[in-house]
Formats: sequence, C-alpha cells, structure tokens
Amino acid sequence: MFTADNVPRAAEDPLFGLMAAYKKDTFDKKVDLGIGAYRDDNAKPWVLPVVKKADDLLRKDPDLNHEYLPIAGLADFTTASQKLVLGADSPAIREKRVVSFQTVSGTGAVHLGGAFLSKFLPQPTPAIYMSSPTWANHNQIFTNVRLPIKSYPYFSSETKMLDFEGMISALSSATKGSIILLHACAHNPTGVDPTQDQWKKIAEVVKAGSHFPFFDCAYQGFASGDLAKDAWAVRYFVEQGFELCVAQSYAKNFGLYGERAGAFHFVTAPGSDAQDTVSRIASQLAILQRSEISNPPAYGARIASMILNDENLFKEWERDLKTMSGRIIEMRKAFRDKLEEFQTPGTWNHITSQIGMFSFTGLNEKQVGILKDKWHIYMTKNGRISMAGLNTHNVTYVAESVSATVK
Ligand code: PLP
Repeated sequence: MFTADNVPRAAEDPLFGLMAAYKKDTFDKKVDLGIGAYRDDNAKPWVLPVVKKADDLLRKDPDLNHEYLPIAGLADFTTASQKLVLGADSPAIREKRVVSFQTVSGTGAVHLGGAFLSKFLPQPTPAIYMSSPTWANHNQIFTNVRLPIKSYPYFSSETKMLDFEGMISALSSATKGSIILLHACAHNPTGVDPTQDQWKKIAEVVKAGSHFPFFDCAYQGFASGDLAKDAWAVRYFVEQGFELCVAQSYAKNFGLYGERAGAFHFVTAPGSDAQDTVSRIASQLAILQRSEISNPPAYGARIASMILNDENLFKEWERDLKTMSGRIIEMRKAFRDKLEEFQTPGTWNHITSQIGMFSFTGLNEKQVGILKDKWHIYMTKNGRISMAGLNTHNVTYVAESVSATVK
C-alpha cells in the first residue's frame, strides 16, 4: 500500500539553494555566477529584439487562438528546426530520414529521447555513457527512464582542457551498442568542446563500437555566434551515415527560457527502407508524447517558427546571437586579462579557450566557499561560473576577489 510516510526527503537541488542564498544577500556588490541564463551588461534578463518583434506581430494576428497543437507539434516549427540543426542541405532531410517532434524545451527533448530508447533497446539494456562531468539533469532524466548510466572522462583538471585520450579510451572499451551522449557545442558545465579533428576521431570510435550517438544541442548559435559552426559535429555525424538523435533547445539562443520551445529529432540511417523506419518511429514517439504531455506548448514555438521561417527576421536573429555570444567572449577576455594583471597564481588561458555560457575555473570547493562568504560571489561548488553573470561593472571586482582568494 502507498503511504506518504515512506517517501524520503530528496536532496535540495544545489542550484536552487545557491539562488536562494544570493537573493537573501543584501551586499550591494554581490555577484550571481550561478545562473544558467543570459544577462546583459547591467545584469538584467535580455529579451532579444527579434523575439520582441515576433511577439508583437503574433499578438496582432487576428487568427491567433489557443487551440491544441498537433501531438508532434507545430509543423512549420519542427521542419525549420530540422533545417537549423542538420543544415538546409542535409542528406537526411533530402532523403526524408528525419522524424521531428516538438518538445518541452531541451529537457523535454532529452527526456523523450531517453524514454523512447529505454522502451526499444534490446535486453540487457545497454548503458548510456555521459561525459564526466555533465549537465546534472542528464543523470536524473536518464535514471528516471531507467537507463543504466556510465561515464567517460571528459575534463582534465590539470590542463583544464578536454581529456581527449581518456574519452577515446573509455569509448573504445564501451560495450558494443552503447548509447553515447554528446554535447553538440558549449559543453555544460566545462565550456570545453572537442576540435573538429577530435570530433572526427570520436565519430570513428563511436562507429567502430556500433554505438548510438545522442546529441544534446542546447546552445546552437549562442556559443560562437555562428549557427553552422555550433552544429558542425551533429552535421558531421549525419554525413557519416549514423543513425542518431538530437535534443534541441531554444531556451538560450532565443532567450525563450520559460516558453519551453524545443525539438527532438531522430535521424535514421541511409537505406532503402528509411521511410518505413521513419513512420514506425514517428508512430511510437506519438504514443509517448500523448501519454506524457498530450501536445506541446504553443507560444514559444510560434515565436521561434516565425523567426526561423522569415528571411529578414532570421538575419536579425543572427545579429542578436552575435550580440550575446560577443558579449560573453568579451567578458572571457576581460576576466582573464584582469586575473593576469592581478598576478593571480596559476594559468588562466582556459578562460578564453573555453566556450559558451559556462567556464570551469578550476577553483576548488573551499575557494568557492570563501568567494561566497567573504566576497558575496556565488557559483556552484565545482567552480563553474556563468560567464553571463560577468559584466563591465563587476568583472574587476570578481577578478580581484578570485585573485585574493587564490593567493
Ligand atoms: N542540455 C544542456 C546541456 C543544458 O545546459 C540545458 C540547459 O541548461 C538543457 C539541455 C535544457 O534546457 P531547457 O530545458 O531549458 O531547454
């Protein structure tokens, strides 16, 4: 019999605890480096001008209603999303080998993919290999759908770069037919991405092990400001003829965090029966989607769809992406320059070589504690900082504080 007495208290999400402590802090120079959302130079949320424009147009549309979307979502949105991540000239799109479902942002896409794989993987269920470290929610999502979890080394704490040898060696010895979770770009939490040559080697090893690649693409365009560059790895794997899936989020690159716009794409391998595979997979995804959310949320997808499908709005979006990624790249430079100017012990080149929203600073738990208690600077215990939390007004203060803490 179910009894609430048997429900143990779950550990508090460390990020929520951090946010609560930051909110309570009354110090005027406090800095939030924990947030996973873009902030402008005044530490304020930024509505992309192109999103504002699309939103205004949508609100004026006399035909706008609040009907349910189809189970698979808004077709104009999912079709444009395929093109965005796979490339408009993708062989998979040309050969109609892609099934796409609109999801509850990137989290929903990762979950839908996990639930689908878990349902149809052979017994004994192969493990999903994820980078160590990875976005903390990956562990929870795949555990919830009962996939066995293993990890591959990813980050070298000595070089603060990719532990490429460790990664390749782990993937080479993984049981054949495993699932390999890969961050398409702007790896969270480390900010470290493989180079294109390293991706090629990763693809070789994944192919040799008959593994199934699962790409999590949460930062396309946000990382480098270049949509094609940030999707390079996904497109390369598709070119190599892999069967794979992609979880796509529009939270960061459109700033549509709370609107929950995202998509899940399953790309089948090239072959004469690809179309049959596509329709079987679509039929099963529809059952999963129906049983979990019935239909995806409409508003964010309508905004994204309007921008993705309009040449001028799309160009404007690319400019907005450059504004966000450019500010973050500037902050990386400024932070590193200041740390070096203050002769902070250690090397800080990783701050500028890492990419995207986050940076793994190499600060240890004790130093993170000092920064919080003495300097009112908040970051996760693993030393990860959100670059979006830095701005021209606080970068010197943060660098000075880090420098004093490390010395
Ligand atoms: N995947 C990674 C690696 C992320 O960092 C995030 C967000 O932080 C997501 C997926 C999903 O985010 P959302 O569900 O807000 O789209």
